[in-house]
Amino acid sequence: MKILISDAFDASLPGKLAKYGDVTDDKNELKDADVVLVRSKTKCTKEYIDSAPNLKLIIRGGVGLDNIDRVYAKEKGITVHNTAEASAIAVAELATALMMAMPCNIIPGDSSMKEGKWLKKELKRTEVNGKILGLMGVGNIGTEVAKRAKALGMDVIAYDPYIKAHDYADMVAGLDDFISRCDYISLHMPLTDETRGMVNKDLIAKMKDGVRIINTGRGKCVNEDDVAEALKSGKIAGFSTDVWYSDPPESSPLLNAPNVIATPHIGASTKENLLRIGEVIDRLIGMFVSK
Ligand code: NAD
Repeated sequence: MKILISDAFDASLPGKLAKYGDVTDDKNELKDADVVLVRSKTKCTKEYIDSAPNLKLIIRGGVGLDNIDRVYAKEKGITVHNTAEASAIAVAELATALMMAMPCNIIPGDSSMKEGKWLKKELKRTEVNGKILGLMGVGNIGTEVAKRAKALGMDVIAYDPYIKAHDYADMVAGLDDFISRCDYISLHMPLTDETRGMVNKDLIAKMKDGVRIINTGRGKCVNEDDVAEALKSGKIAGFSTDVWYSDPPESSPLLNAPNVIATPHIGASTKENLLRIGEVIDRLIGMFVSK
């Protein structure tokens, strides 16, 4: 069996998988690969799948499957898996840090100090304690964010049409009602036809003035032009994002808008998570081989 490691994984992974056969990271060997391991960089399009006539299994190390043409893979009899729960803590920690960084003024505090400025009076802070955090999507990652927000003294509400009740968040059924109550909004839903461009000028108009938004879900769930406009007008007081229309973004109005914190899609990239992902991949290939 040939296993192609197509994207960046923990360095221990090839050794872990050697028991199953030949493990390579040479993309020229795609044509002979039985199993392909990807993260978000490799796009498993129809053309990609057609270049791999032996392919039987694609494993996405991580969660979002929007870089894989699952319909075509199914047609070709190729099984597709993700490593669903492994990344929840890593992404939730980043989302929480991005949320806290905004009212704590960590980025302007740091950059102004390094420019020789002392903005002690100018950098006014607020607290997250007692504020309402709204989660859009409360699956694995949203749940871990909810636990952390509760520990920070926040009230946590969630909008997720597919979840009726939750241990750490009060579910709000109507999107308009939900959105009008949030001081902070954190996005944790997948990119689907339903969620594409969901945070747009119509939804933003229904938000509280001065709302702060964190996006560690998918870039295309927001309309970047609408968010940039709302940042300029002050309707949105802060926007922290780890995710973009493309990796890296070719251009984005968010990179020139005020009060944006930008990170380069590093939500899942903790050492611990890459090890966890490797363990899940080992288990999935083991199960696949023994079928
Ligand atoms: P999950 O499947 O456990 O949870 C997603 C939740 O979104 C589900 O509860 C689902 O019901 C809900 N949802 C679906 N459609 C919705 C809608 N229209 N409105 C509101 N909620 C909706 O997935 P997860 O592990 O929590 O991951 C969530 C997303 O985070 C992934 O799909 C991926 O796009 C993104 N992600 C980003 C990174 C990163 O590096 N920044 C890493 C991992 C995952």
